[in-house]
Amino acid sequence: MPQPKKHLSRRERKAVAEGDTSLANFHKEKKEKKNAPPPPRIIDWAAMNPKTSHYEFGGPIGAAAMVIFLPALVLLFAFGCDQTGYMPFERFYAGLGAVASGQLSFGNLVEYVKAWKPMSLLWYFCFIAQLVTFTIAMPGTNVEGTQLRDGTRLSYRINALQTLQTTTTMLIMSNRGHGWSMPLWVQANFAQLAVASVIFSFFISITMYICSFLGAPRLLALGGNTGNMIYDFMIGRELNPRIGDFDLKFFTELRPGLIGWLFLDGCMAVKQWVSLGRITNSMVLVLVFQAWYVLDALWNESSILTTMDITTDGFGFMLAFGNLCWVPMMYSLQTRYLSDFPVDLTYIQMAVIIALQLGGYYIFRSANKQKDVFRKNPEDERVRHLSYIETQAGTRLLTSGWWGKARHINYLGDWLMSVAWCLPCGFKSIIPYFYCIYFAILLIHRERRDDEKCRKKYGEDWETYCNKVKYRIIPGVY
Ligand code: NDP
Repeated sequence: MPQPKKHLSRRERKAVAEGDTSLANFHKEKKEKKNAPPPPRIIDWAAMNPKTSHYEFGGPIGAAAMVIFLPALVLLFAFGCDQTGYMPFERFYAGLGAVASGQLSFGNLVEYVKAWKPMSLLWYFCFIAQLVTFTIAMPGTNVEGTQLRDGTRLSYRINALQTLQTTTTMLIMSNRGHGWSMPLWVQANFAQLAVASVIFSFFISITMYICSFLGAPRLLALGGNTGNMIYDFMIGRELNPRIGDFDLKFFTELRPGLIGWLFLDGCMAVKQWVSLGRITNSMVLVLVFQAWYVLDALWNESSILTTMDITTDGFGFMLAFGNLCWVPMMYSLQTRYLSDFPVDLTYIQMAVIIALQLGGYYIFRSANKQKDVFRKNPEDERVRHLSYIETQAGTRLLTSGWWGKARHINYLGDWLMSVAWCLPCGFKSIIPYFYCIYFAILLIHRERRDDEKCRKKYGEDWETYCNKVKYRIIPGVY
């Protein structure tokens, strides 16, 4: 007679004891079925990753121009600005003149290249390696990203603030016994570090491009699969490259760029402190505003999971270079300028700049928050009074509140803040204003890209929305 098993229920044990195993077997089979791994999903990768048929950024020529000219611009600003003057373009033209008149020989060029300090590459690499280590090692909250085309969702560890905190502590500790030597070395070798960041960005983007062809098929970015090498390399081919759970694009989005930017700002402030014996009020304003922006982005880290960078763009040169090189090297231009040319602001100037920053931040944060809250829970009391359009795509578009004033009112807030970061540099040089001029162009272009994306996604509903909300960024103007 079969022996009653312990894991069976009382009723089943009684039935087995009486020689009837049918009920117990039924439950056993049901349990085995439940615990069995899901059958492998058959994915038609050709259909999942269709060939991209349209180009952005001026197609392959525009992409090639970005790959060549953006790093050149970083180097121009790095080498063309120092305590003797912020004249990148004048120095560039002088260099061209020297080449034309035969003064710049091959030997001179070799000397220039030899003057670069490979130590800066090691330093830069160690900084990034430190961020990677803390991102992997620090605890964080796991958050699911938006649903991907293949129906899955990826999980992301939210711990950028912990990474910032630990990196800052380690950097401060590493200064013990060395005075300010490290931040002063960084300030003095800014141009060397800029070269290192360009080299590193190319290394990462080339590796990403090659790896997107290797191994098992994976999701590609819908816009980065044209088959044109230069274009796909620039725009990014693979959507979510990962090593195990480590998401390379998500890591690069906020950490090297924003934390690196804040760190460079700190080094520039130290340089001013050491050379001037005090920190000017203009430096304090820029430091506080930019630190505030970075901390705000890190604090709201999970909200980048719904941005275009994560949901739509592949991980290619555009994002790798943008975050590994462009953001830290170009966004720290104002503090760099102030470390070389200190400015003292009057109380009235300070009040105007602070008002601009606060106004910009208010628009930027409340518009982004309003959309975020509405998308998560339209019944939330903060947004339930707002009007909206119910779209065929299944999502709702707000037509009142911030999103009823202009279709990208959040960009206006962001841009006003960028002006507030440049004004403390005074009016002796236009160069520190590069940031707000470039940022205006970026936001206008980004708005056009987003508009195109939404037009495709929402069709007639987007037209209805555009008819209701006429302005793109600035209510009543544009
Ligand atoms: P946005 O936050 O502007 O969101 C755009 C998306 O929101 C659209 O694609 C659409 O997505 C949805 N949407 C559009 N209109 C409505 C509406 N009326 N109601 C509800 N949802 C709507 O995206 P970005 O990623 O461009 O910007 C995020 C923030 O990052 C901005 O504040 C921007 O200024 C900032 N930024 C900063 C940069 C920097 O270098 N400092 C660079 C780029 C951005 P869906 O498909 O879900 O409907």
